[in-house]
Amino acid sequence: MKNQNKKLFGIFTAASILLSGTAFAETHNFIALTHIRVIDGTGNLPVEDDTLLFDKDKIIAIGNNIDLPPHTKILDRSGDSVLPGLISDHSHIGLMKNIQTGPEYYTKDNIKAALSQYQRYGVTTVMALGLNKPAVFNPIRKEAHEGKLPADLFGVEQGIGVPDGAPPLKIGTQQIFRPATPEEAKEAVDKMAEEGTDLVKIWVDDFNGSVPQKMSPSVIEATIAEAHRHNIRVAAHIHDLADAKEVINDGADIIAHGVRDQLIPNDVIAKMKARHIWYIPTLQLDEATTAWAEEQTWTNQAFYKAGLSKEFLEQINDPAWRNAHKKGKEAAFARKSLYINLQNLKRLYEAHVNLGFGTDSGAQPLRIPGVAEHRELALYKEAGLPPLSIIHIATENAAALLDLKDRGVLAPGKRADLLVVSGDPSKNISDVNNIVEVWHSGHSVKGPTQ
Ligand SMILES: [Zn+2]
Repeated sequence: MKNQNKKLFGIFTAASILLSGTAFAETHNFIALTHIRVIDGTGNLPVEDDTLLFDKDKIIAIGNNIDLPPHTKILDRSGDSVLPGLISDHSHIGLMKNIQTGPEYYTKDNIKAALSQYQRYGVTTVMALGLNKPAVFNPIRKEAHEGKLPADLFGVEQGIGVPDGAPPLKIGTQQIFRPATPEEAKEAVDKMAEEGTDLVKIWVDDFNGSVPQKMSPSVIEATIAEAHRHNIRVAAHIHDLADAKEVINDGADIIAHGVRDQLIPNDVIAKMKARHIWYIPTLQLDEATTAWAEEQTWTNQAFYKAGLSKEFLEQINDPAWRNAHKKGKEAAFARKSLYINLQNLKRLYEAHVNLGFGTDSGAQPLRIPGVAEHRELALYKEAGLPPLSIIHIATENAAALLDLKDRGVLAPGKRADLLVVSGDPSKNISDVNNIVEVWHSGHSVKGPTQ
């Protein structure tokens, strides 16, 4: 590897002789992070006191003995660690603003503001898993792929819900299909394929008995079959084991939430493993339902507070709001769901089931972009996973779930989506909150508390 790097820089040096210094500097923008701990996202042990060289959005070389090309800007990052930018496999955009929700918030400005917040918190790729308005979403996704936005963006266009059922959200009719029959489901999938959807999503849940009807088995089957005919994978929103079993049997590719009503039995775990099904626990979703009202210790930390709007802070400081959200059926349901979700995550981790990373951030105001992802990392630790595995899941695995081969690990040729933190998150996962800077498409921003 080191010899290859030397050879590579031989070429750069030759090029620099041909070009004038200024022209070379304009073509390239070499930056070297030196004396840094490299945690590459593969789950391997970090390399201490290393150098990472990148040029705009690409990593060029990593090693402690590389020749730096002319005009390289050197940033001494002694004491810091670099890891791949975090990747969210399950978020939403444009559904809310501060503490309000509604279709009127699906705007470019609002979505850009959310992507900026994701970047500040080190999340450099976001999968908006449904409820998108194609006319607004598609041009934004294109710009994001061109590196013009603070984070890269993928999406399920609208997704497949249920008439008079899931998802029970304040969204516009352009943001969801609610087919009544298998034929309508097929048409909806065809439309989404035509729009360029990255995945198809189905909502298979009765939201704790709060919606009158669930998706019918024939609609589930027709949706999955039609998506697979288009070579598009299907992510399923579920809560209960019974629904998870049904979508697994029908061929779903991604379980987009944890199973939260009971422990997953071994035969189902074996089936998930054999079929390489991805599982995104979304632990933070249920934590968020009560944590702000309960004033959990972390909610007062500056790192998390920096992601909250004035309106949100006013709400959580209101004793009446806190009382209402601490008590009752919804709070009890969320606490029980999280308790079971943590145990299922540990079981699946030990069984080597494919685990992804996502929180459902942005779906509603309690689920804060960036904040939710960092809480998710802490909750993976609470479930009993070691720090290096947690980072591996939130980077290389999360990229693999989305079938993205150009990111998720730090290696020459991969995207320079970089999260620089002080300390060593490979030993202490909470060090991932000490954000120094986040690089995406050749630009950096400081962490939320800087
Ligand atoms: Zn969701």
